[in-house]
Amino acid sequence: MALEDYRADALRCTRCAYCKWIPFDLIKSWRFSKGCPSVEYNHFHSYSAGGRLVTALSLMDGRSTVTEAVKESVFKCQMCGNCDVTCKMCRYDMWPIEALHELRFRLVDQGHGLAQHQPVMKGFRSLSNMLNKPKSKRGDWAEGLDLKRLSKHKSKLLFHAGCQYSHDPDLREAVRNAAELLKKAGVDFAILGADESCCGGRAYHMGYKADYQAAAERNLKIWADAGVETVVTPCADCYHTFKRLYPESGSSVAVIHMVELIDRLLKQGKISFTKALPMRVTYHDPCYLGRQGEPYVAWKGKEKKIFGQAVVYDPPRPRYNGAKGVYQPPRDVLMAIPGLELVEMERNREAAWCCGAGGGVREAYPEYSMWTASERLEEAKSVGADALASACPWCEKNFADAATRNGTKIKIVDIIELVYQAL
Ligand code: SF4
Ligand code: SF4
Repeated sequence: MALEDYRADALRCTRCAYCKWIPFDLIKSWRFSKGCPSVEYNHFHSYSAGGRLVTALSLMDGRSTVTEAVKESVFKCQMCGNCDVTCKMCRYDMWPIEALHELRFRLVDQGHGLAQHQPVMKGFRSLSNMLNKPKSKRGDWAEGLDLKRLSKHKSKLLFHAGCQYSHDPDLREAVRNAAELLKKAGVDFAILGADESCCGGRAYHMGYKADYQAAAERNLKIWADAGVETVVTPCADCYHTFKRLYPESGSSVAVIHMVELIDRLLKQGKISFTKALPMRVTYHDPCYLGRQGEPYVAWKGKEKKIFGQAVVYDPPRPRYNGAKGVYQPPRDVLMAIPGLELVEMERNREAAWCCGAGGGVREAYPEYSMWTASERLEEAKSVGADALASACPWCEKNFADAATRNGTKIKIVDIIELVYQAL
């Protein structure tokens, strides 16, 4: 696809502004009714999906040029996808988030990528991770666990840790717990260790499509050579990349998130809880596991008009509106932990407020990123939660940083750690 393929979307946008809110029927209070962090923080229409469609149209038609203000409005967005869900509440013929991706790809192709992203992208190209960490250290998290390496043992199931879990010492316990838990349950799996590379998803979200494609091709070849049939990952970003983006590059490898696998293992009786965790926990749906975690559906068809006016797709086009994201497994897992009380924030599931870390925002606009996370912490506090649990290392890192900065008294936990503690 190209930006021009979304020209019709830009023209069809009715400027209704639904994309600034969560779906109207899910609003419970004014305080937590907003859905787009970008427009809420920047207070200007061009920072909403509808506004960015206007910008895209103007650029396509040569009525505008790319200025610093245009770049900021395009990149100061987490690519969280709330706009896409809310727009589709009443529009079946628009794909705002795809148009926003194409707008970023266009700017990057024309040499207008953000200067703040360049160190990250340099590290991605030379070190195969998004944190500028030494490649040789990627497998250190697994030291002493005696895990099978894919380079030595063929395996149908690959455990992919992801950049953040592999390189962040604060998250090391969670990823080690995940591997130990799989061993306890008798799951046969292997890891790549230092040979593991970034999935490429965050490069894609920043607008670097060619870099993403190179990463996808490299990973798919390694998997194919080793006979991998299923990949399990504890990272929501990697999950989305493997599940939703890789099939476009020809992947037929099955993908599950670690929390889905834990849920299955619990329901099959392969693991069970023996300890109580008396705490009040709220669950944060990561954007890339929730509303953007829907499985890829192949579509090849064309747009037609009926009665010279109404747009239809032949055959019907898949409608990603967040309904088929991974929502229930993490909740079932948390509710199964003895003594743990699960409380929902007002904005949950497809209406969840973003953690603030996505789309290259954490790297380029740290203040805005922290503000977005702080908003979510306020929401968690408003339901009296002792702890905020999630299933994505990027979310957890951003929340932990915001909580430290603000002095917010709430524990940020990885769902895997809670499970491990209760075994
Ligand atoms: S992108 Fe969709 S929700 Fe936003 S203003 Fe346009 S039509 Fe309305
Ligand atoms: S992706 Fe998220 S931050 Fe960006 S315009 Fe859509 S709702 Fe706003």
